[in-house]
Amino acid sequence: MSEQRANVLLVDDRQENLLALEAILEPLGHRLVSVTSGTAALKELLLEDFACILLDVQMPELDGFELAELIKARERSQHIPIIFVTALSKEEQHVYRGYSAGAVDYIFKPIDATILRSKVSVFVELWEKTQQLQEQAEQLHAQELAALERASEERYRQLADAMPQIVWTSDVLGAATYFNRRWFEYTGMSPADAGPNAWQHVVHPDDLPLAVSRREQTLVSGAAFEVEYRFRSKEGEYRWHLGRAVPIRNDAGQISFWVGTATDIHDRKLIEDQRTFIVTASDALSRSLDYRETLTQVAKLAANGELADWCTVHVVEADGSLSEVAVAHADPAKVTLARELQERYPLDPDAPTGVAAVIRAAEPELVPEITAEVIESIAHDDLHRDLIGQLGLSSSMCVPLKGRERVLGAITFSLSGPGRHYGADELIFAEELARRAASAIENARLYREAEARAQAARVLAAIGDGVALIDLGGRVRLWNAAAERITGLEAVDVLGRSVRDAVPGWEAVEPRLPVATVGEAGRAESVPFEIGGRELWLSMSAVGYEDGTVYAFRDLTEERALESMRQDFVATVSHELRTPLAAIYGAALTLRREDVELAAELEAKLLEVITEESNRLAEIVSDLLLASQLDTGKLYANVEVCDPRSIAQLELDAAQTHLPENVALALEAPPKLPAVVADPGQLRQVLSNLIENAVKYSPDGGTVRVALAPENGHVRFSVSDSGLGIPASEQRRIFEKFFRLDPDMTRGIGGTGLGLYICRELVRRVDGRIWVESDGRSGSTFHVEIPQEAVTTPAGAGRRHRAAA
Ligand code: ADP
Repeated sequence: MSEQRANVLLVDDRQENLLALEAILEPLGHRLVSVTSGTAALKELLLEDFACILLDVQMPELDGFELAELIKARERSQHIPIIFVTALSKEEQHVYRGYSAGAVDYIFKPIDATILRSKVSVFVELWEKTQQLQEQAEQLHAQELAALERASEERYRQLADAMPQIVWTSDVLGAATYFNRRWFEYTGMSPADAGPNAWQHVVHPDDLPLAVSRREQTLVSGAAFEVEYRFRSKEGEYRWHLGRAVPIRNDAGQISFWVGTATDIHDRKLIEDQRTFIVTASDALSRSLDYRETLTQVAKLAANGELADWCTVHVVEADGSLSEVAVAHADPAKVTLARELQERYPLDPDAPTGVAAVIRAAEPELVPEITAEVIESIAHDDLHRDLIGQLGLSSSMCVPLKGRERVLGAITFSLSGPGRHYGADELIFAEELARRAASAIENARLYREAEARAQAARVLAAIGDGVALIDLGGRVRLWNAAAERITGLEAVDVLGRSVRDAVPGWEAVEPRLPVATVGEAGRAESVPFEIGGRELWLSMSAVGYEDGTVYAFRDLTEERALESMRQDFVATVSHELRTPLAAIYGAALTLRREDVELAAELEAKLLEVITEESNRLAEIVSDLLLASQLDTGKLYANVEVCDPRSIAQLELDAAQTHLPENVALALEAPPKLPAVVADPGQLRQVLSNLIENAVKYSPDGGTVRVALAPENGHVRFSVSDSGLGIPASEQRRIFEKFFRLDPDMTRGIGGTGLGLYICRELVRRVDGRIWVESDGRSGSTFHVEIPQEAVTTPAGAGRRHRAAA
């Protein structure tokens, strides 16, 4: 409690009065404040607290009563006792005014020093009592407050101690002032060691710089602090914590202290890291199709010192051997060491534990703690033991890379350093990673296969032979472009359908082409088909594969047509040649006979046979020559303007010379006809062929008419007979080379089958056309149209054409 001197205010306009008052009150030892005006008094009252006021009643400006009223009106000063000092009368009204103005006493001049002192003393004492009471009350309040604070602090402390997190407080400068129980339990520190910067001793050296700089920033800014760092436990293991500190501010908003917490987020962080890792690894895995490169990438990601210090990936090669395709270390210093270990002690494929065993069993292997015994059990010799020891491995796990059908390899993860162990959680993570890696390897392989297949498909599509792939269920799985072209059946209509339904005539294929064993092609066979009313000959071969049969085929129709044509040619031409030759030979033999005297008539007849048949031979040979010239494009046409009528007449006259008796010839032509543009010799040959045929194929005789008529820019020559006729179905084919309606000559009418072919080719070369009309019974009419002069070329202009091939 402070011993405060009481203030006494003395107010009098006269200095000498003030001095007198001071002299009287001096011995009391109070602090006397003397002022000479009411205004000055009010000013003092604003500044100080007074125990009592001595007030002169009569003062200029503001008199004592007025001043007293003002003092009483102010809350802070209203309870200050006022003693009026007056020389005026002691009349009632005066006294009354004084009391109503708030005076508590009067003292009259001349002043009795003893009375004044005792009165002032009473008031000062009263003030002092009040003062004391007030102080006591304040003290009491402070004590209660302190007790309360102590209690709450204790409660907070208990709360803090009960919390599973680490809790600490620090002063405004960041120096620790308190650590909770969890702190001591976790770090193993004693309270004596836990100095103001104790936290910096347990934070992982790698995380410390960031944590310290953050802390410094927040101490300056006053913002909440948050950082993730690793705290070392008393076992020496580092676990991830989330550190947080928030400032606690006083009423004035200034920071009083900081409360900090550190929450163990190790497991969560590991899961997060693993998840992030899996995502990154999956990304890497899906990015490249070179799985070796990808696995190297994954190993590098894994050996980050967190998930693993050392990561190796082995794969099973096609020959069943194991090869290491990727290896990565977190600590570059240990890379050479690990390499040396691997080189000196290669994988033993029969080892009961480790990579080979994991791949064999397709089961993961977890070694939570690599103890001295574990090393002893795997080490081959002292050097081996020493190398393993130098790597400082503490835990390892190996997981198989399981493909759909077999184990593709294994990934091994190892940790080094005390207190670092793999557990069930990490194993789950490793298996997840292995699953993804395995599927990446398989995808890469599948992709390569698909690529190869796509390439094969492209080749198949482009190949000239038809290729059909029929699965074991008899459905068409592939039908390439050549197959479409050859058969006229489109892939869309065939694919996925049963081949027997989709390809007419397929049932004939299977018995002819027994499929040999897988991969072995059978002999090619010619198989006939009739697709869309068209006869097809296909040369087919079949080869089996795991899922069905591949058929390759080639169109033989054309070849067969040529082949049959060749056969026809040999048959007809050789016959045609042999007949005149036999006649000539016979006649010649007879003429040569010396034993028989031949009549002159007979001799002449025989010579005639020889001449005629020689002619016939010459004709056949010239037809063959002409056809071959037409085929090879070596026939020239001397195109000129010529008169159709005279050409027709010439041919009729020529035919007349060797006409059978039962056949008559007739020309029907208008007197005036437009000239035509043609090679006259070739045009004559065409007409001669047609007339000859008309006569030849009218075995029962009749009239052969040659009619000429202008026709739409052309002149039409029509040769009609009433002979055998030509069925509609063959009317196109008779113009083909070697084609004959009756190749076996049942009617006894011979020929090479070249005449109409030659006609067609010659007509075509002068831009004309040729066709036949016949009901197939009562004769035929052959029409030839040759362009008129005006249409193609100016009159008289001769042109020399090279026949087009
Ligand atoms: P060919 O030497 O056999 O007469 P062509 O090319 O001149 O050869 O005629 C082809 C075939 O057309 C003949 O074999 C014959 O069957 C038929 N043909 C041609 N002209 C007539 C015709 N006027 N009447 C009936 N059939 C004919």
